[in-house]
Amino acid sequence: MHVMKFGGTSLGNAERIRNVARIVEDSRRERPIVVVSAVAGVTDTLLSLLGKKSLSARLRTYEKIAKLHRKIASELGLDEGLLDGTLRDLRFLAAKGASGAKRRDLLLSFGERLCAPLVSGVLREGGVPSEAFPAWELGMITDDAFGKAEPLGNAPQLLRKKINALTVIPVITGYIGRTRKGDITTLGRGGSDYTAAIIGAALSAEKIQIWKEVDGILTADPRLVPEAQIVPELAFEEASELAYFGAKVLHPKAILPAMKAGVPVEVVNTFAPKKAGTTIVSNFRERKQKIRTVEALTFKRNIAAIHIYSPEFFDGNILMSRIFEIFERHHTVVDVITTSIASVSLTVNSGENLSALAKHLEEIGTVAVEHGKAIVCAVGGGVNAAGVAGVMFTALGNAGIPVEMISQAASGVSMTFVVEEKDAEEALKVLHKEYIEHV
Ligand code: ADP
Ligand code: ASP
Ligand code: MG
Repeated sequence: MHVMKFGGTSLGNAERIRNVARIVEDSRRERPIVVVSAVAGVTDTLLSLLGKKSLSARLRTYEKIAKLHRKIASELGLDEGLLDGTLRDLRFLAAKGASGAKRRDLLLSFGERLCAPLVSGVLREGGVPSEAFPAWELGMITDDAFGKAEPLGNAPQLLRKKINALTVIPVITGYIGRTRKGDITTLGRGGSDYTAAIIGAALSAEKIQIWKEVDGILTADPRLVPEAQIVPELAFEEASELAYFGAKVLHPKAILPAMKAGVPVEVVNTFAPKKAGTTIVSNFRERKQKIRTVEALTFKRNIAAIHIYSPEFFDGNILMSRIFEIFERHHTVVDVITTSIASVSLTVNSGENLSALAKHLEEIGTVAVEHGKAIVCAVGGGVNAAGVAGVMFTALGNAGIPVEMISQAASGVSMTFVVEEKDAEEALKVLHKEYIEHV
């Protein structure tokens, strides 16, 4: 079995959907399990409904979505009534207006629910037995953490049983699930990759293919660095550092289920299906022999650095555990930590409400919060090799970019550091030149 996930851009119009159907058909022998996102832009349009106070504005937005999908269906020569039921439900919800996390997830679920029938419809038209499924019908049962739901413990077992029993090629909605009580949930923006990984792991699939509009995982975001090149092979650890620190190419959660189940993930291009793309393999140690020092670069904006100074740090580790307890209590996730003998610095998302947290931390020592930072992350097999840090920070120094909170993963898989947000893009370009374009 191959799990094949197609992103929104690859499903952006009738022609692209036809192209996706061709790719699926070409893999028919591998028993494809198809997972789809919403048509490009639709989730954002649905989200915009939430901010609209006037009924007529909401209905106009609904009409825009309905028209787009009807147009695609008709260009694909599909049955006119194919989407009627789902569109009726969406219109009802749009008219009513939605607020609150539960309604928001229900509303956002429509993108995938409108897209899957288009893909299975084209497959059927081409003589391939196929059916569209909302993921919960095949076992994607989640907790009720709306906006960031997680599959329940027995979901993989259910998914395996139900998908194995199918006799058609399923086209499954990514990104969404349902609670035991019947409320629809979403797995977080970009979550279709996560759906594909959960399903691939549950089925012990031969591979999970993430089909996109780029050649694979590139050395940097091609929108920022046009010179970015394809990375043919990455280990799970490297890919997850990249995803976590902002590379929009894969959902950060998508790596873990696949890694745990030992199912390889391929990132491939829908517009160039013959190209090999990027393969994410499990074994970092083996890979380490044959790669560049720095394989890929990314950065994450909107970061705040929190510095805690206290003479009591001289006394040992108790303060460390107290600090983590406080972060835990405020449900605030820490990305990077650096320490000295009398201070600890940590980074968090600037978006979090930090004033209560900072106040709490003042029980420990003097606290300073600095906004407007970014974390830059370099991954590769050799970032711990002799001289790498020297070259890296000399290059940044020559470009006049100050750096703080340098931290290196123990296995040598990544180097992260903090810069002013305004310098992040330049830092990425400088390091890309140094490590990728010049070798
Ligand atoms: P999809 O709709 O298929 O899920 P996304 O828009 O979520 O696609 O992600 C693909 C985009 O990620 C690409 O258009 C590219 O601009 C961006 N991107 C950021 N970093 C990288 C990277 N290192 N390699 C490839 N693409 C990247
Ligand atoms: N359609 C959802 C989003 O835009 C999920 C995804 O694309 O993976 O976030
Ligand atoms: Mg995506």
